[in-house]
Amino acid sequence: MKKHPDFSNLHVADHPLILHKLSLMRDKNCPKVMFRMLLKEIGMLMGYELTKSLPLTTRKIETPMAPMDAPVLDGEDPVIVPILRAGLGMVEGLETVMPQARVGHIGMYRKALNDTPPIEYEFVEYLAKLPAPHSPLFVLVDPMLATGMSAKHALDVMVRHGIEEDRIKFMVLVAVKEGVQVIQDAYPKVPIYTAALDDVLDERKYILPGLGDAGDRLFGTEHA
Ligand code: URA
Repeated sequence: MKKHPDFSNLHVADHPLILHKLSLMRDKNCPKVMFRMLLKEIGMLMGYELTKSLPLTTRKIETPMAPMDAPVLDGEDPVIVPILRAGLGMVEGLETVMPQARVGHIGMYRKALNDTPPIEYEFVEYLAKLPAPHSPLFVLVDPMLATGMSAKHALDVMVRHGIEEDRIKFMVLVAVKEGVQVIQDAYPKVPIYTAALDDVLDERKYILPGLGDAGDRLFGTEHA
């Protein structure tokens, strides 16, 4: 992943597999089953990148040939925290690289305060279930970083729970600068890892070109 020149906390994917898979997902004709599978695969590839700095210690083991001090992960198990509901789509990929991870959940939805553009939203939190705050790594996940307001609320919840800011990494699929700025201003120690940085938000606060509503595409509720 590459550090973005304008944001000290932003890492943007440059791996051809991630970029290719994201393009397949963006296509409006990508079926739900494939969308889900690709999101899982990208979650796995990005998870490999963002776990690079996990602390290691050594453990004495015996191979069939000789004793050795073998490197193993240090500290408590990593924690994955999806923001419901779209964040759930990236959990399985992360669990593939960190099968021992615990999973916390933060549920919130954005409630429109008016029905003609520009639409204003408020965030309603309905669930926060997190493990103890001692793990060296908490990965907050949400595929779309748009206004940044839901992620900021989720980070507020995590920090209120006692999780230190510098133990949190935020993994997204598509971000826009506006949302990145909101997170950087509020939580400068939280690095953001994204597969792509898109152009703008439309008047309904959807990302352009984006991929539409990630939750709807993941769960097949577009026309609900
Ligand atoms: N949430 C989505 O699912 N898509 C967007 O484009 C913005 C927010």
